[in-house]
Order: sequence, then structure tokens, then C-alpha cells
Amino acid sequence: MKNKETICVQGGYTPKNGEPRQIPIVQSTTFKYDTSEDMAKLFDLEASGYFYTRLQNPTNDFVAAKIAELEGGTAAMLTSSGQAANFFALFNICECGSHIVCSSSIYGGTFNLICVTMAKMGIETTFVSPDATEEELNKAFKENTKAVFGETIANPALTVLDIEKFAKAAHEHGVPLIIDNTFPTPVNCRPIEWGADIVTHSTTKYMDGHGAAVGGCIVDSGKFDWMAHKDKFPGLCTPDDSYHGITYATKFGNAGAFITKCTAQLMRDFGSIQSPQNAFILNLGLESLHVRMARHVENGQAVAEFLSKHPMVEAVTYSGLKTDKYYKIAQKYLPNGGCGVVSFTIKGGRSAAEKFMKALKLIAIETHVADARSCCLNPATSTHRQLTDEQLNAAGIPAGLIRVSCGLENKEDLIADLDQAFESVK
Ligand SMILES: *Cc1c(COP(=O)(O)O)cnc(C)c1O
Repeated sequence: MKNKETICVQGGYTPKNGEPRQIPIVQSTTFKYDTSEDMAKLFDLEASGYFYTRLQNPTNDFVAAKIAELEGGTAAMLTSSGQAANFFALFNICECGSHIVCSSSIYGGTFNLICVTMAKMGIETTFVSPDATEEELNKAFKENTKAVFGETIANPALTVLDIEKFAKAAHEHGVPLIIDNTFPTPVNCRPIEWGADIVTHSTTKYMDGHGAAVGGCIVDSGKFDWMAHKDKFPGLCTPDDSYHGITYATKFGNAGAFITKCTAQLMRDFGSIQSPQNAFILNLGLESLHVRMARHVENGQAVAEFLSKHPMVEAVTYSGLKTDKYYKIAQKYLPNGGCGVVSFTIKGGRSAAEKFMKALKLIAIETHVADARSCCLNPATSTHRQLTDEQLNAAGIPAGLIRVSCGLENKEDLIADLDQAFESVK
């Protein structure tokens, strides 16, 4: 197997003699065939190829193959956003009447998707603490549980998931573990090596890394034995009438069934394809992902250490700090560091946070993270502004909490910017 640095640069696409060195952008909705028989084979999933970009496009497939290789999976697909990736990954094996076990420490958009929108579809969820014991985890499962879901490093809480523990519980109950690996990226953690079955990404974050293209990705490890649990997963293990009675798990095996079904049914019906143009931009980001992640971690660590010593700081959350609740577990799953996102609580609450952020010059106020440019957000005055201070505290988001996403700038410049902003609050 090639090393991840080499896969970042060259994975997924190997040009033949005289072909373009960079991946071509196949900016075409359709593909031409000589005979109807040729096309019919594609429609019947008897041959692989392209016929309409709503389902598949060569540019996307080059990039998906690179991400599959980076994660150590057998198949992958790109989606239009991280939201689409998480929805498809879950809905590919869940239906009305299904149940999901989910870590309570996840991205707000995913929480809403699962808790509100998927609930309307008749899919029920039990939320468990990311720190749940084996016993607590086992109690969350039901007859109709189809999947377990969590984030390696949660956005924005920055909790680190014990992937092995969650995988063990999932497998004991005959269901796959789906891990959103957006924050560490496969450069810093490969969840499949720890037992995850499906890995998802918002490629909008570090993978693109330049705040240029919204996108998502789903990777299958190829390890989950669907037919061994065929009563739980009829969509994969019984004939699909919309494809002439194909049974995905037998026709495409454990290595290909999940992504083939997800493409053939969900991409066909919901149409959340990533544009080939965005896939090209994503690939430019991936080419430097290994170099950038190391710098994001270096800057995150330096900023976290600076903040942890500052007298105006009440608390810092960053799993690279020895004092952090997740330091030990991060040493196991994230030995080269996690990401560049640090959160801290400024003394003086909401008004201090507001004054502090206004004074920042390099670190911009944005609803974004994981960008080359540093940015920050105070939930109390933005995403969570409808909540009172009491409600914020109950949700574990103090009014003075500021999330800083450390970009690729010089770390001394970032620290100097934070330092002068503290001075202005005094
Ligand atoms: C941003 C994010 C998402 C949603 O991704 P979009 O590309 O914005 O749709 C999902 N999971 C995590 C962990 C995220 O940070």
C-alpha cells in the first residue's frame, strides 16, 4: 500500500500514455453510445460506465477513488454536500420504522437532519453520550436498530470518539458503524482501521481547505457482511424491483454493494451529485491535504497552549493539551494531532466575547471552519443567539465560548492577533 502523502498527490487517477496529467473536468451531462444495447447494459447495472451525470461522472469518480484509497476503503462516492453524504449513508440502510443509535456530540446540521427531518420519515434515534460505557451503549439498541453514528472529533464540541468501543457495540448488535471523519481527515485518523464500516465527510472543510467548494463523500470499508444480517438490511439483501431484481449484496459483494445501491437508488432519486467542477477544486485541495493538516495542527496546538496560559481565559478545549479530557484517547486515535479547531471560554461572557472578536484583525468572524484562513465564531451571539445564558450553560455552550479555526498563517501572527484582542477587552 502506498503512503497517505503519495495517495493525496497521485491517488485515484493514473493517466495513460499521452493523457492529461491533471484529472480532466468532464463537463458533460450525458455520454454517447453506439447502440441501445450498450446503454441497456448500463441501465441494468450489467456493465459499469457513464450515461448521465446525475448518477455518476468520471471526474467525481477519480476524486472519490482517491478518498477511498486514503481511508482504506473499497468504494466511495461524492455528494453535493456533507449533509447529503450523511443523509445518504444513513438512508441507504434505514427506512420508515428503523432506529439509529447516535452520539449526542455531533454537528448541529446532522443533529437536525437526524432528530427532525429523518424523524418525520419515521426513523427514530436514541442519542448516547460520546463517553458512554459499553453497558450504556448496549442499552440503546433496539430490535429495529440499523446503524450507529458518531464523529471522530465532534464539531463544535471537540469531543474525541472511542471508535473501537462504538464499533464493538455496533457489531455485537449486527449493524454497521458510520463515522463522520470531517475534522481529522484520513491524514490524521483512518476510522476503518479502528472498526468503522462506513466513513463520511464534509469535503467543504479541510479536504477542500480553501473555502471554495461545498461537497461531501461516503466511503465503504467493504468489511460489513450484509448477508450475515440479511433480515436487518432487506434493501441490500433482497431483489431490487427498480433494477430488474438485482440483489446488491450478492451481485456486488461486501466491497461494492453499499456504494452501488447508494448511487443507483439514492443518487438516481434525490440527485445530490457534486458538480465535476467542484470535484476538480476538491482534488486540488486533496493534493496538499497532508502538508496542510500538519500546519493546521501545529497552529492549533500553539494557539491552544497560548490560550491555556492567558489570565482572561476560563477554559480551553483542544485534545492536544495534556489537561484536556480527551488527551489520552486522542493519543490513541490521533497520534499526529487532530485538527486546527480550538475552543475557549473568555472571562466576562457574551459582551467580552463580542468586544474581543471585534478587535481581531487576522481571524475573521465566519460560520465556517477548517479553512486556510483563520476564522472564529461565538455561538451565543450567532448560531445560538436565541438562547438565554441559562439555556446556553445547560447546553454546555457558555456565553463566552469562542471557537477558533486556526488556518495556515504564521502561528506567531495568530497569537499576536489574539493577544492584542485580549488587550482591547481589559
Ligand atoms: C460541516 C459539517 C457537515 C455538513 O457538511 P456541509 O458540507 O456543510 O453540508 C457535516 N459534518 C461535520 C462534522 C461538519 O463539520
